[in-house]
Amino acid sequence: MTVGILALQGDFREHEEMLQRIGVPTLQVRLPKHLDQVERLIIPGGESTTIGKLLAMYGLIEPLRARVREGMPIWGTCAGAILMAQRIVDGRADQPSLRLMDMTARRNAFGSQLESFEIDLPVEGLDGKPLRMVFIRAPVLEDLGHDVTPLARLADGRIVAARQANMLATCFHPELTSDERMHRYFLEM
Ligand code: GLN
Repeated sequence: MTVGILALQGDFREHEEMLQRIGVPTLQVRLPKHLDQVERLIIPGGESTTIGKLLAMYGLIEPLRARVREGMPIWGTCAGAILMAQRIVDGRADQPSLRLMDMTARRNAFGSQLESFEIDLPVEGLDGKPLRMVFIRAPVLEDLGHDVTPLARLADGRIVAARQANMLATCFHPELTSDERMHRYFLEM
C-alpha cells in the first residue's frame, strides 16, 4: 500500500518522515498521474489558498475528487482540513478547494494572540490516552453534517478533528510530534 502525500506546498516532508518511520511506502503527489500510483492520500498543513491554487493549476481537483468518491481514504491536516471542507469561513471567495466533507472550516480561528499552541487531548478511535496536538494558525470545524463524526473537541467544545466515511480532517499537526497513533489510525481506515 503506497500512501500519497500531496507535495505542492506545506509540511509534506514531515508526513513522509513519519510514514517512513512506520515503514509504509510513500509517494509525493504533484500531478494527476501520481494519483494512479497511490491507495491513500494525505494533504499536509501549509497555506490553504496557495495549495488550492496549485491544485487547480496542476489539474488535480477533479481527479482527486473522483478517487475520494470511489472510496480512497484521504486525510487533511490543518490547511488540508480546510481544503476538504465543503464550506470555508474567513477564506477567500475565489479560493479553489476540494469541498469534500460536509462541514465548515473556520480559518485562523484562534486569532493573533494564540496563533500557535500545544495541548493534550483524547481522540475518539485512538486508545484513550491523550494526543499531543500542535496548532499553528489552525482552523476549527463547525456545522458538521449528520454523517460527519467529531473525533476531538477542545475544552470549550470546538471541534478539531472529524471523520466522514473515508475522509479524515484534523486541525492540528500529528506529523510534528513523535506520536504515530493518528497516522496509524489513518492507515487503518
Ligand atoms: N492558516 C493556514 C491556512 O489558512 C493553515 C495553517 C496550517 O496549515 N498550519 O491555510
